[in-house]
Amino acid sequence: MGLAATLLAIAACSPQRAPDMKITADDWATTGGDAGKSHHSKLSDINADNVGTLGLAWAADLGTNRVLEATPIVIDGVMYTSGVAGRAYAFDAATGQELWRFEPEVDMQVNRTVCCDMANRGVAVARGKVFVATLDAQLYALDSKTGKVMWKADTRDTPERGINSTGAPEVAGDVVVIGNGGAEYDVRGYVSAFDLETGKLSWRFHTVPRDPKLGPQDHPDLEAAVKTWDANSRWDIGGGGTPWDAINYDAETGNVIIGTGNGGPYHTVKRSPKGGDQLYLSSLVALDAKTGRVKWHYQETPGDNWDFTATQPMILTKMSISGEKDRPVVLHAPKNGFLYILDRRDGALLSAKPIVRMNWTKGIDPKTGKPIPNPDAADWALGPKIIFPGTPGARNWHPASYDPQTGLYYAPVQDMGNLILMPPADPPFQKKGLNTAATLFFTSDLEASLALLPPPLAAQVRALPAFADVKKLPASSELRAIDPLTGKAKWTVSMQGWQDRGGVLTTASGLLFQGNLAGQLRVIDKATGKLLKTIETGTSILAAPMTYRVKGVQYVAVMAAWGGGGYPYVPRYSAAYTRGNQGRLLVFKLGGGPVSLPAELPAPEIAGVPPAQAAGVTPATIAKGQALFYSVGCALCHSNQHRSITPDLRRMQPATHENFRKIVLEGLFVPTGMPRWDDLLKPDEVDAIHAWLIDAQVKVRAEELEKRKRGIPLDAPSLAILSNY
Ligand code: CA
Repeated sequence: MGLAATLLAIAACSPQRAPDMKITADDWATTGGDAGKSHHSKLSDINADNVGTLGLAWAADLGTNRVLEATPIVIDGVMYTSGVAGRAYAFDAATGQELWRFEPEVDMQVNRTVCCDMANRGVAVARGKVFVATLDAQLYALDSKTGKVMWKADTRDTPERGINSTGAPEVAGDVVVIGNGGAEYDVRGYVSAFDLETGKLSWRFHTVPRDPKLGPQDHPDLEAAVKTWDANSRWDIGGGGTPWDAINYDAETGNVIIGTGNGGPYHTVKRSPKGGDQLYLSSLVALDAKTGRVKWHYQETPGDNWDFTATQPMILTKMSISGEKDRPVVLHAPKNGFLYILDRRDGALLSAKPIVRMNWTKGIDPKTGKPIPNPDAADWALGPKIIFPGTPGARNWHPASYDPQTGLYYAPVQDMGNLILMPPADPPFQKKGLNTAATLFFTSDLEASLALLPPPLAAQVRALPAFADVKKLPASSELRAIDPLTGKAKWTVSMQGWQDRGGVLTTASGLLFQGNLAGQLRVIDKATGKLLKTIETGTSILAAPMTYRVKGVQYVAVMAAWGGGGYPYVPRYSAAYTRGNQGRLLVFKLGGGPVSLPAELPAPEIAGVPPAQAAGVTPATIAKGQALFYSVGCALCHSNQHRSITPDLRRMQPATHENFRKIVLEGLFVPTGMPRWDDLLKPDEVDAIHAWLIDAQVKVRAEELEKRKRGIPLDAPSLAILSNY
């Protein structure tokens, strides 16, 4: 081989490093807009004086009825965003012309171990590549010009576990970092960093240790962490700690900061029986972006018992605090009800202020910076407890905005609790199954839930001190302008229900944009909370709006569709309930037009006649089927309610009844999203579930016939509940 040929061969082997893309002030270059992900824009062409003319510039129907959570990115006039299960799109940001779309092949069997819908929270864009992770935990690098796959990496360390991926990847220097979800199932959390150019794994950081009996830990940080766990922990279940959303690269320190998930199973006694803080559950952890080694950590909820993830989005900014001007800080409000300010150089806790009711802790110990436990109120291994905040969290994935001008943190905040109980029997470990080992009821409608419990147990719950708090305020959801130094709100705006908690955008021109489940995009005066403008879109909105400018025109864009945690329970006040859940990308500009509203759905129909029960079905069979439906996890997707996103199994068609075993055990509908369950369920168990559903269909049909006779709408609350009044 001659010299020239050798050089050519070397050139062909070494990957081409594309130049960094040119970012200008008109762009929105990360899911949070800037490097710190503040969800705040300096653009000010749209302001309080002219926002009255804001209207539709263009829209894209994304052909889905599942949730859209991403905040789009715009660089140099091109919009990049993600959709259901990790689809990706590029549009001309001014005209809406679709430039390309990426439709990954996703193994829908993954839905078995996805708690909270087929969500995806966005893409990252750098060096001519668009990075997106799919629901089945594959990371793709796509050519930003064409959408063609440049490389693909399987991010699963243990494919036999129920790993999924829903977060946006984060570019951190020469690597792209992605986390995973699945703490409700059997997953051990970790983040993986892949080389931007080649897709080769650079490092991986596990958030929780593995069984020490297997030998040394994967990395030295875990040798320290394992000492905070019981040596006889349920390592087989994985432990949780899954970093499924917040990952922020801090270029000033070279750290990538991750928020880690809750423990699995939920209660320590089922996970690390002798207790312990259990690092790095429910923590912020700063990792060296070059090596993946821990630089600092702060555990927000030591020994988590309450599904208190710390994965909620964080904001990297500068604040004058603790006597230092422009101190580099991370602002973080996780599920557990505190709003934290940490120094992002060393993780020093500067402030922790409660923003909602909380009884899981008595407050932060000023000496240690750790929360003081409150077992009498919150340890549900000691008996049923009402815990504030509840598992949906004071904050969840819905982005907040920090505005350096006002120094305020604008966020949707939920003030709600949970009744948590140990399940009556100790549930067995289910591989790739639900392993929370907890029974949960939200305080939003606690009385209705108590009616389902044995009367002595319900009486015990009513006697809890926190029950009085539930009576006072079962649940609320508000948009708040919060002073992060005090936790107090300067103003609040009520949302329609506790599930209504849309992400936020603020601008330098004094505006705040937020969507709601009724399908309105609302523009609010960020100084006062006053409503300036409402645009009816007819599609429920949870995702955060964003803004950008192309050729001198400022646009505001938002992705719209209901879903996420509890997605089968469609709120009655939502556009998803009245008009269906048509997933759309909506883009607005001054002088734009009206949004075309999806048609209202027709009135529901009476459930059909189900087949007769098979021979030998007894009330015990039906009861067994009902119990399995809830314990195995069927109920997580099938709420069996009117206008649920997934099929209401109380009104199955004859062909569905006929194929019931084939669907559940042989995977007849896997391509459309219904996984197979033959590893967890035996044929007679599937038959028992079917028997319960046939029984439910008989009952709902009888009730609906009665409603029709009385002239009551079919989707009105059930007659049994009505008759209690
Ligand atoms: Ca969780």
